[in-house]
Amino acid sequence: MFKTKRIVVALGGNALGNTLHEQMEAVKTTASALVDLIAEGHQVVIVHGNGPQVGMINNAMTALTHEDPTQSATPFSVCGAMSQAYIGYDLQNAIREELADRGILYKPVCTIVTQVVVDKNDPAFQNPTKPIGKFLSKEDADAVAEKYGYIMKEDAGRGYRRVVASPKPQEIVEMDVISALVDSGRVVICCGGGGIPVFREGHKLTGASAVIDKDFASCLLAKELDADVLMILTAVEKVAINFRKENEEWLTDLSVERAKALCEEGHFAPGSMLPKVSAAIDFASSKPGREALITLLEKAKAGVRGETGTCIHD
Ligand code: ADP
Ligand code: MG
Repeated sequence: MFKTKRIVVALGGNALGNTLHEQMEAVKTTASALVDLIAEGHQVVIVHGNGPQVGMINNAMTALTHEDPTQSATPFSVCGAMSQAYIGYDLQNAIREELADRGILYKPVCTIVTQVVVDKNDPAFQNPTKPIGKFLSKEDADAVAEKYGYIMKEDAGRGYRRVVASPKPQEIVEMDVISALVDSGRVVICCGGGGIPVFREGHKLTGASAVIDKDFASCLLAKELDADVLMILTAVEKVAINFRKENEEWLTDLSVERAKALCEEGHFAPGSMLPKVSAAIDFASSKPGREALITLLEKAKAGVRGETGTCIHD
């Protein structure tokens, strides 16, 4: 018999677009793909990226400091919170509308502003790699570095940008409320942009200037929710070895063991496919029966039926 599953879906950049207008359009297609899963009876929990959106908010808040000298720089963690609310707003409305259009009523959709604890001693803080914000001249970069203590790096001949660390997620602060909502059948959007990174000191949570990879945050969420499937929806239908080479080969089925070997052989690009395959390996090996699927947004429904995508399993 057809078994319904609990699925954590991680949405890539193509699910949201790069501008306000693009996002308003993109969420319709995204909602349609997600409701395809909900309509089949699956429990769906949604995580999304936020690169372009948090960049846009960060730039806007920086512009505000130039316009109004009484305003100080907005912490990057606050920009992350704004991006979660903004994206959640568009996404939850699009999903709500799509559900209603298909006659699925009484399926509330909500967004949880989510914080994720990171470790101050995470080695990622010794070597920040994630560029954020505008490209600046050397002089302007030196000025903001001096004023705010930002780390500025030259980015491929295009100017200087602020870089922040990409630490591993340790704990989802709002996990209890997310579980309660998911268990009671609500559609939940959470851990947006990988979550707002925070340091925990006693009872106090302090926003960290960092970016958590949404693929790793989704993996942690899927484990905490005891999900059946971690589904990473991106811009390719399958994972390839020898990607973009003459002997390129698209993979359908990948054991954890083989996936680990392929990571070591360097088949997956560090900033894009490697975190997905690493998260997939982590989830699939965390408990018997768990599997991860990497595929195109539009193929979500076919993917969960085992008809396409790359499935990573133990
Ligand atoms: P997302 O926004 O979904 O996180 P990314 O751009 O970070 O998307 O990662 C997906 C991209 O990874 C694909 O569009 C593809 O160009 C790239 N990629 C790198 N290595 C591989 C590989 N071995 N197989 C498939 N795609 C790969
Ligand atoms: Mg990515």
